[in-house]
Amino acid sequence: MSLLIYAESADGKFKKVAFEIASYAKKVAESIGTTVTAVTVNTADVSELSKYGVDKVLKVSNDKLSTFNAKAYADVIKQAAQKEGAKVIVLSSTTDSIYLAPFVAVGLEAGFASNVVGLPLSTSPFQVKRNAFSNKAFNITEISTDVKVLGLAKNSYGIVESNSSLSSEDFLPSLNDADFTIKVENVEKITGQVTIADAEVVISGGRGLKGPENWGLVEDLAAVLGAATACSKPVSDLGWRPHSEHVGQTGKPVATNLYIAIGISGAIQHIAGINSSKVKVVINSDPEAPFFKVADYGVVGDAFEIVPKLTQKLKEF
Ligand code: FAD
Repeated sequence: MSLLIYAESADGKFKKVAFEIASYAKKVAESIGTTVTAVTVNTADVSELSKYGVDKVLKVSNDKLSTFNAKAYADVIKQAAQKEGAKVIVLSSTTDSIYLAPFVAVGLEAGFASNVVGLPLSTSPFQVKRNAFSNKAFNITEISTDVKVLGLAKNSYGIVESNSSLSSEDFLPSLNDADFTIKVENVEKITGQVTIADAEVVISGGRGLKGPENWGLVEDLAAVLGAATACSKPVSDLGWRPHSEHVGQTGKPVATNLYIAIGISGAIQHIAGINSSKVKVVINSDPEAPFFKVADYGVVGDAFEIVPKLTQKLKEF
């Protein structure tokens, strides 16, 4: 028996979340007296996993899996779990993993808990703490099935280094046409930018920036900090920015170390999606803007004056 993680990668390289769930799984595995096995798809170099306590990696190389396909990937994870006799399977909470996890759980007749934060409160019975109500509350969930699938909330555990002597083997799951009933017709890649999912820092702009022609402010600050760019919903609805940047309750969730909101009022639907970020900084000309109530640091003033100065100062470091 081993604990299995799905170590996500993109363009042949592990995503950072893979290291977070490896770190988490290592600790859970210790508490239930087992080892950590990772399964990964089309990842060129798997050796990095040895820094985060993974004992074994199952490498899947298959051209048919070069584009993410939830059903097929879920079948790969299911077969890996069955091969290893895994009773606990840990996935992250990226868009892909959120999509995958229910398929994996159904395939293994497993109980599934999403949005898990922290280590299991108890392993017998198996109880985990989960974010609820857009991260405003927690609930305690007990999973009573033999096999358990956990979706770890992003950036909730962190990356912890612990060396292991990693072994790796090629894994050839058997896939058939039924695995590919979801057809991916087109994939548009965002290039040259840090993605919101992988970013440590996100710089987000709202309607206070007046128009798309002013987004240089956001992009320049993001470039200095190696950050991803994001926006409020109206900004993407207006077509100022692509929908892939829309964050909030109905957009992408953000759980970064630093979230800087520029010209965003802080409506409840926006806050719901970003309030798991560790440090929130708000720049807004209206001292009554609701965002200031949840901010760790706030600057009251005109973004068009403040942001270029901030970017310049950071460049000088
Ligand atoms: P505004 O509310 O127009 O605020 C602009 C802010 O910029 C103001 O606070 C203003 O003081 C400030 N400002 C103006 N000029 C300057 C300046 N020169 N310098 C600095 N600050 C300045 N919204 C989301 O973002 N994400 C969601 O997922 C989301 N989901 C929703 C779901 C539903 C069902 C509904 C009903 C709404 C949802 N919304 C969502 C919309 C949300 O309610 C707000 O309307 C939206 O977040 C407001 O966007 P904003 O802050 O960019 O714009």
